[in-house]
Amino acid sequence: MTLFLTNTHKNIQKAALILKNGGLIAFGTETVYGLGADATNSNSVQKIYAVKGRPNFNPLIIHFAHLDHVFQYVKKNDLAYKLGKKFWPGPLTLILNQQENSIISSIATAHLSTIAVRIPQNVTAQQLINYSQKPIAAPSANISGRISPVTAHHVYQELNDKIDGILDCGSCEVGVESTILDISQDQPKILRPGGISLEDLTPICGSLNFEESIENKIIAPGQLSSHYAPSLSVRLNCNYLEPDEALLAFGKTSLQAPLTINLSKTANLNEAAHNLFAYLRLLDTEGKKLGLKKIAVMPIPNYGIGHAICDRLQRAAAPRSSSKQ
Ligand code: AMP
Ligand code: MG
Repeated sequence: MTLFLTNTHKNIQKAALILKNGGLIAFGTETVYGLGADATNSNSVQKIYAVKGRPNFNPLIIHFAHLDHVFQYVKKNDLAYKLGKKFWPGPLTLILNQQENSIISSIATAHLSTIAVRIPQNVTAQQLINYSQKPIAAPSANISGRISPVTAHHVYQELNDKIDGILDCGSCEVGVESTILDISQDQPKILRPGGISLEDLTPICGSLNFEESIENKIIAPGQLSSHYAPSLSVRLNCNYLEPDEALLAFGKTSLQAPLTINLSKTANLNEAAHNLFAYLRLLDTEGKKLGLKKIAVMPIPNYGIGHAICDRLQRAAAPRSSSKQ
């Protein structure tokens, strides 16, 4: 049975003890809910891959509570220190070179010499990591390829009885995953757009390239992999509706489907990111009940956090036969 834990002090300590003893705890961050395990314990990390059905060549992000702790595991990097000071705690993941004597499980890093690290902002998540006294490996707390969870209830619906506990940390403020920035080599590269925008990073990093993420390179060279996928199919940039479609709207519109929900009536991209995954889930379950076959999505501006929203929607709309995460 999976324990459902409200975020009392006692429960956070209980969840931390479960992590310390090798168990799996789902917890909320400002991005999405993560499925956490002690990153130094290979058995625990292996359980994450098994529960999610995640390919074992797709490495995990390792979460810390303090900047000093991060630098116990990675090689000295001045840019990382600068970025960490500015954006942590927050939705930025850095890819860095690992120290040779690092005790992080090589299963968590998929045997790479690099490691993905982040300090989340959610206070309950920070307390959990702190009490566990461990670096915590945590991918999104969903079955691979599905929509990321942004409430404890979403996790419960998908992973009940498969993990040891769910720590309710409230709903995720940002609502889309962290930006992944690779600074392990000379030229920084963005591997995934996310909660920190390109526009936020360039004053510190200079001009930035977008690079295919590891999982795309390995699994589906040259094409977007299916991910964040509802069971209904997804049609992007719609300016008209077909009769069997639910509508995911953005901003003012006269379009009206049998089932319509608006990411942000005032066209606010932060509000849209916050609502994205919860509204996709809602359209999927309610749309199916109404016999609808597709979700039509209105155009979303591709700048700021809109970049991350467009990336997730493109993956949600990608052909289903390819990869998952
Ligand atoms: P998720 O766990 O769903 O938030 O996704 C984490 C992402 O981080 C995946 O796309 C991984 O491929 C990527 N990642 C983790 N570690 C590394 C690494 N060492 N180098 C490059 N990408 C990484
Ligand atoms: Mg994920």
